[in-house]
Amino acid sequence: MPLWTNWSGRIACRPDRFERPQNENDIAEALSQPERSDAKVRIAGAGHSHAPLVPTNDLLIDLKALDGVIEIDSQRQWARIRAGTRISALGRPLREAGVALLNQGDIDRQAISGATATGTHGTGRRLQNFSAMVRGMRIVLHDGRVIECDTKRERELFEASRLHLGAFGIVTELTLALRPAYRLQEKLWLESLDTILDHIEALTQATRHFEFFWMPGSTRAACKSLEETEQAAIYPLGPEGERLAWSDEVLANDRPERHTEMEYSVPIQQGPECFRALRRMITESFPNLRWPLEYRTLAADDVWLSSAYDRPCATLSVHQGVDAPDEPLFRACEEIFRDYGGRPHWGKVHFCNAEELASAHPRWNDWWRVRDRWDPTGRFLNDLLATWRP
Ligand SMILES: Cc1cc2nc3c(=O)[nH]c(=O)nc-3n(C[C@H](O)[C@H](O)[C@H](O)COP(=O)(O)OP(=O)(O)OC[C@H]3O[C@@H](n4cnc5c(N)ncnc54)[C@H](O)[C@@H]3O)c2cc1C
Repeated sequence: MPLWTNWSGRIACRPDRFERPQNENDIAEALSQPERSDAKVRIAGAGHSHAPLVPTNDLLIDLKALDGVIEIDSQRQWARIRAGTRISALGRPLREAGVALLNQGDIDRQAISGATATGTHGTGRRLQNFSAMVRGMRIVLHDGRVIECDTKRERELFEASRLHLGAFGIVTELTLALRPAYRLQEKLWLESLDTILDHIEALTQATRHFEFFWMPGSTRAACKSLEETEQAAIYPLGPEGERLAWSDEVLANDRPERHTEMEYSVPIQQGPECFRALRRMITESFPNLRWPLEYRTLAADDVWLSSAYDRPCATLSVHQGVDAPDEPLFRACEEIFRDYGGRPHWGKVHFCNAEELASAHPRWNDWWRVRDRWDPTGRFLNDLLATWRP
């Protein structure tokens, strides 16, 4: 039985069957093979989630072979993309067609289907997460049928599954909203943490993207901003903090150090106070933590399970080295996040049960109702997801 592990190596499984389909027929074939009636099917993206969303002991499907851009409409600014395509493979073909992703996260190694599955996001007051960019999807259902959904076809399925957690079926294609290609100029500077928190509103409004990283023990933090520019790109690319190039070349970073991570979104007005509370707690209780806390912003959206559903937010992340104990740290942080109305990132560590998730997400029961309609026997629910079923 092959071993599957996530990026950090902290999450693993040995499924009875590990399939790498080349197309939808192969997927339907894999689903039709006899199994125990309670066998669970899960889908692996690039394995960059810190939450055990992917593991199953039964059938694991890896869609790496379903790769590439199918169609780009530069005029109407959308592209149809195969689900296994890595974000890093999108920049060049989109740019050559004069378009670009609306935003990206810190890295570009994820599969596009994995990024949309969990509400992966970058930073920017006016910028939404990947799930909110989805305009349509093609999904292989539990019985091998293929369904297409968007605002006109199977609208409820579309609304629910823009952030799908791999729980509706096997997504094979996505249509994403885009914008004209653009260049970004990046800046990196050190600033007193108190000054940043006192002026966070102005800082986050001043440029298209703003974030900061604070290292526990320090009185200062590293601020990073990115602003659109008409200036020509400069190659070779400078180091992080000094790049001027196309958006996909500047937004993605290298983050090779293995770590685990907790991230919560809190209402935008609560961001600085929540950060101050984390700083106090970490300084007192975890003075030896040597991994940064990150502060970003995210625009509101209407994606049912999004951490930004109906509210703009600040997203605060806490990291820990992969070999260090992290549960006491993350549990202490989570208590603070909850006090500030936090919603956990679906792809990162959290300890929420079904009740806590239901109270954080106004559309929780709707999401489950629609999910259960399209997968009535719970074929796509692994142990983690099954514990959340209302
Ligand atoms: C170094 C690092 C940096 C990160 N930076 C950011 C960041 O800047 N912003 C942010 O928001 N997050 C970030 N993350 C988290 C990461 O973006 C999410 O966890 C994302 O979901 C991972 O994508 P993946 O392709 O690896 O998916 P996986 O982790 O493999 O899977 C995620 C979910 O998608 C489902 N899935 C994948 N493909 C399909 C499919 N075709 N059909 C149905 N279901 C599918 C899986 O079953 C699972 O439920 C980071 C993670 C790491 C390790």
